[in-house]
Amino acid sequence: MSTILTVNNLTKKFGYLTAVKNLSFSIEKGNVYGILGPNGSGKSTTLGIILNVVNRTSGDFSWFDGQTSTHDALKKVGAIIERPNFYPYMTAIQNLKLVCKIKEVSEDKIQEKLQLVGLWERRNSKFKTYSLGMKQRLAIASALLNDPEILILDEPTNGLDPQGIHQIREIIKKIANQGTTILLASHLLDEVEKVCSHVVILRKGEKLYSGPVDEMLASHGFFELRTSDMDKL
Ligand code: ADP
Ligand code: MG
Repeated sequence: MSTILTVNNLTKKFGYLTAVKNLSFSIEKGNVYGILGPNGSGKSTTLGIILNVVNRTSGDFSWFDGQTSTHDALKKVGAIIERPNFYPYMTAIQNLKLVCKIKEVSEDKIQEKLQLVGLWERRNSKFKTYSLGMKQRLAIASALLNDPEILILDEPTNGLDPQGIHQIREIIKKIANQGTTILLASHLLDEVEKVCSHVVILRKGEKLYSGPVDEMLASHGFFELRTSDMDKL
């Protein structure tokens, strides 16, 4: 087994507020990890830190073997942590061609990735005509263009209708089955149960549990999670 990411005693303070507190976990290749917790529990802050867009207060993290710089390691990481943003009057193909130029990767991948997310038939439609679910799927295709080792998603199904939610979850499973490691943040137990093999549960920035999802569900202490009322945490 090879380790993709190790997080050690990570802490992030915003003034007096401790958004992430002494958080440690690791991510092994080939698994699907969820960071689960109610709104405000520190999920996005954690993702921001490991992606180098949020500065940590203390603690440490290291990507892959720990030998490469974070800057170089992040070239092997695909991430969607914001609303999908593309040129509205350009087609999916045109938008992805631009991404290929920016990422300096071959355009050969465009068809493969659009087919993977079910958008090949709509490749010549302008981005502005896409539904939110399609926009999210295009963002996933874009993040996969350079075949990253790991795909990171922050609340990937937020704001989608039930069909859109189902489609995104199926695509995530397909990507995982192809061998890409996944890390997603979600406030929905349901999402983690359906998609993830492993989970880190956060409450107010602190880790409550980390381990396999089936053990979490079997564990008596998390029985009430089944109510899906994450705000009880
Ligand atoms: P989650 O993604 O789990 O909803 P966040 O990581 O976004 O949680 O936020 C964790 C806590 O940190 C929240 O209380 C939030 O208000 C606070 N927070 C997040 N970003 C900032 C920021 N840039 N400045 C101040 N407080 C922030
Ligand atoms: Mg968040």
